Amino acid sequence: MEETEVCIIGAGLAGLSAARWIRKPAILIEKKSEIGKPVRCGEGISLAAFVRENIPTQGPHIANLVNEVRRSFPNAKVIGQMRERPYAAILFKDKLEQWLSSQSAAEIRLNTILTNATKENDSWLLTTNQGVIRTKYVIAADGPASVVRRLTMRPKINCLPAVAEIISASPRSEEIECCLFFGNQVAPGGYTWVFKQSGNYYNVGITMRENGASRNYLQRFLNEKFTDIQRLENRSGLIPSQGWSHDCHYENILFVGDAGSFVDPIFKGGNGLALATGRLAAQALNHGRPQKFTQDVKSWPISAGELNSCANWLYGADDKELCLLADYMLNSDARQEKYADWSRVKYFLETWGKARNFVWECQSSISGYCPNHRIIRTIGPDARFVRE
Ligand SMILES: Cc1cc2nc3c(=O)[nH]c(=O)nc-3n(C[C@H](O)[C@H](O)[C@H](O)COP(=O)(O)OP(=O)(O)OC[C@H]3O[C@@H](n4cnc5c(N)ncnc54)[C@H](O)[C@@H]3O)c2cc1C
Repeated sequence: MEETEVCIIGAGLAGLSAARWIRKPAILIEKKSEIGKPVRCGEGISLAAFVRENIPTQGPHIANLVNEVRRSFPNAKVIGQMRERPYAAILFKDKLEQWLSSQSAAEIRLNTILTNATKENDSWLLTTNQGVIRTKYVIAADGPASVVRRLTMRPKINCLPAVAEIISASPRSEEIECCLFFGNQVAPGGYTWVFKQSGNYYNVGITMRENGASRNYLQRFLNEKFTDIQRLENRSGLIPSQGWSHDCHYENILFVGDAGSFVDPIFKGGNGLALATGRLAAQALNHGRPQKFTQDVKSWPISAGELNSCANWLYGADDKELCLLADYMLNSDARQEKYADWSRVKYFLETWGKARNFVWECQSSISGYCPNHRIIRTIGPDARFVRE
């Protein structure tokens, strides 16, 4: 039997980030035979997350740098936040994971599947298809369907399926090149995204309330917005839907990334939080203080519960309310009590406002409305310049 101090399960962004920062003897096991593939993601991330995690903002892992993320609403208003410098990136996520693996301080073992975990005194005995590993600490980074959670009987993570694919196509309008689309015609109880990678290549996808219908909605959307569509690669997968809890440390096991449900419940982004929680878990273990990880998460300025309430409003909103939200984002004069539904919009904006520093800086909040950042361009039927 092999012995190590730390065993990391899973070589996604969370596990690889933990492997990069760990300073104890560590092994990372991954069931796949290749790092990074297949990709199951929309591949958007904020550059603030890269800066925070000390990841280069240029290189083969960057498909496209974005200085305007747009949102399209049912009243056909398209709102963008054009900045002078790029503030988000569309990734080649497999390349990012490969780059992270080149930085790993842990020994990485591919084709190694965790099948059982039992506690023996102060150690965990991890059974894999390649033998048993005895370890003091486990970093569970094994994704939304976490086997570690199941084996240790921790509560399951609620997930939403998201349909996504890489297409090659010609857009009917360049406005859609990095855009989230809201509205009941497009994605009831969710949204559709279009993230341009390069040339005519796009990562497109949808997450919505009625999962069964999402492929049809996406197909209709693509036919409306693109011509010459060729489907190249499936990117669909599961997204944790409930947000994180503070129950992310159990008997020297730290749950990070999707395995800890570290996803923004509003816009579902988890790439930035996977990087952050992997690092925080490794740093806590470097100090020999696993409980530090929970303390760090507890000290975050916004709780998943607050973001969840926001998500409930956004994805329960009818088209009229979504239009009101768009009106406000275009022009804060629209913030008038004359709208009967204003209190619900106000609630969303206030909560999101509270979250913005944290979510914007600490997450892949490519989707974020960020009142602090000056909007210098709006586009769409009511095109005009707005300053905040
Ligand atoms: C369709 C889709 C679109 C998305 N779009 C975005 C987006 O645009 N922006 C954003 O920020 N987030 C997005 N997300 C969320 C984001 O992809 C995840 O939050 C993030 O990838 C989580 O990383 P992770 O390392 O925790 O998990 P994962 O990437 O799932 O990695 C888990 C790893 O564990 C391995 N593993 C599992 N079980 C075992 C086992 N028993 N033994 C060994 N290894 C095991 C798996 O093979 C895998 O490599 C999207 C998700 C989906 C599904």
